[in-house]
Amino acid sequence: MMMTSRICPKPSSVLAFLLVSAVLSVPHIVHAQAISSPAKLSVHWEELTASDFREGIRRSQGTCLLPFGILEKHGPHLPLGTDLLDVRYAALHAAEQEYAVVFPEYYFGQIAEARHEPGTMAYSRNLQLALLQETTDEMARNGCKKVLIVNGHGGNEHLLPYFAQTQLDKPRDYVVYVFDEHTPSSGGPAKKSSGVDWHAGESETSNMMISRPDTVHLDRATNESGADQARQKLPEDVYTGIWWYTRFPFHYSGDGSVANKELGEYQMKGWIDSVVKAIRSVKGDDVSLKLQNEFYEKSAHPLDTQP
Ligand SMILES: [Zn+2]
Repeated sequence: MMMTSRICPKPSSVLAFLLVSAVLSVPHIVHAQAISSPAKLSVHWEELTASDFREGIRRSQGTCLLPFGILEKHGPHLPLGTDLLDVRYAALHAAEQEYAVVFPEYYFGQIAEARHEPGTMAYSRNLQLALLQETTDEMARNGCKKVLIVNGHGGNEHLLPYFAQTQLDKPRDYVVYVFDEHTPSSGGPAKKSSGVDWHAGESETSNMMISRPDTVHLDRATNESGADQARQKLPEDVYTGIWWYTRFPFHYSGDGSVANKELGEYQMKGWIDSVVKAIRSVKGDDVSLKLQNEFYEKSAHPLDTQP
């Protein structure tokens, strides 16, 4: 369906006549400007022509977004791609307000803890890092000197800062920025559920009612329990990789059945606004790359570094 809707239909003879008349009536100079600098430029990397891509990089001042999702069970009622669908909705709308080129669908992150559920794609540790590095390297080679990773998946919360830290291991001519905020911390419609609301719960389900309402099966949201199983007895500051499974083995945390559009609208707007702010601050950042270069240079001969 998507394919056919994107194929240009053959214009009828009447439409062809109107198009020809319109082209003939437009002065050539306007036409030439439209070709060299299109007023409306897609934010989707994959929808730009090669020459429009060049214009996109210029217009975005080399700022490109990498919305990062995952394929993972989301309770009994939300689709596997929930995180990617939500984060792309926020990132694409933000980029339309503050122009940036948005990389295509990317879901190659950390999700080992959902390997027991259907539909999970859990790439190995080395491949996650290697693929992300090659992706940002290739983005930078194409002019994205500021790569803003917009994270949509909680399980990436350690992977992404670690990836950013490892950018210091050898000289690179670009900066990786990680943005990992989803929902406004306060305000908005009162929550109907109490307790944790982390995964496929009231908030995330409400967001999906805005980004992809056609994929939400609200009537199934009570088919499974999203309660905290609390099976691990350890202090909070002792970390294990199995912690999520001990608490939420069904990949459901909260109560999606009370989700509503009002909450989704508020949260999604907050998410979009926060990404817009992040894009603006990244565009305005002229310090990180400069100091990164200074750091690379110094780290080539550490004995010369003086306090
Ligand atoms: Zn999610």
